[in-house]
Amino acid sequence: MADQPGWGEGTAHADEDALMAGLAVIVGRDTPGIPRGMGDDAAVLSPDLVWTVDAQVDGVHFRRDLSSPADVGWKALAVNLSDIAAMGAMPLAALVSIVIGEGDATSLEPIYSGLEVCSRLYDCPIVGGDVARGSGLALSISVLGRASIDPPGRDGARPGDVIAVTGTLGESAAGLAALLDPTLRDLPGADECIERHRRPHPRLTDGALLAPHVHAMMDVSDGLATDLPRLAQRSGVSLTIDLDALPLHEDVCLIAQTLRRAPGAYAATGGEDYELVMAMSPEAVDACGVPLTVIGRVEDGPAGVRFTGAGADEALRGWDHLA
Ligand SMILES: [Mg+2]
Repeated sequence: MADQPGWGEGTAHADEDALMAGLAVIVGRDTPGIPRGMGDDAAVLSPDLVWTVDAQVDGVHFRRDLSSPADVGWKALAVNLSDIAAMGAMPLAALVSIVIGEGDATSLEPIYSGLEVCSRLYDCPIVGGDVARGSGLALSISVLGRASIDPPGRDGARPGDVIAVTGTLGESAAGLAALLDPTLRDLPGADECIERHRRPHPRLTDGALLAPHVHAMMDVSDGLATDLPRLAQRSGVSLTIDLDALPLHEDVCLIAQTLRRAPGAYAATGGEDYELVMAMSPEAVDACGVPLTVIGRVEDGPAGVRFTGAGADEALRGWDHLA
């Protein structure tokens, strides 16, 4: 038994990406027959089957004073569906594992009511699950999806591609800001931003339409400033992103300016947008049939992201892997 490391004797990794990379060294071997293992929004089990998992933890991913139990149930499934969308797939079914702390049992029905609404809207039946006693409330959901074409990963971006994004960015961050600071709630659009923060909508239809046209794709869950370096690293390319080109609703600009932040930098660092971001040829942007905004380009060079535009020099310095 002497050669087994004990509790607390593993490596102290600097961040989530380093931790996952360290764990992948232990279990992430290439497995014959598995087209894609770790490193994308979902694993690809066979050319048409994708599989993902994501946890929402009380006090970390949600706060009881800011979201209802039904909101938490909705979002716990929606964030998984967003990963399925990033693979260009549609959901088949979900499993739900819940850990409950003291007194949480009576919250499960309210949580499941929101889960059910999201499940029905996106045609993803809940087919099983598990409940365990723990020190606090946490939901972990796993979704299996089916793709009609080879799912794109994060590793296919190539020089000459453009970087494009669906929808608009920053509303979830603005909604969270408005929940935390009541003085922002009188600003126009604050209620819509709060709704988007509480109940994000996965881009499933767009993802399936985009998949045949993209070289690489992922969802925007942690904010472009955190997510795009992952795509750049996986693809081994240099990305240049213009923060002034990001698609922002005017209400987000107003809330960002009220917080004295450059709107583009605010939206790129906010997170929880659940839009899709992709690398594709410039010609494919118009041909794909999905409204997109081009925000940058892919070039040869050291793998990383360079941000330009208002706010790039301050807020995103830590994310410039080329610096
Ligand atoms: Mg993701």
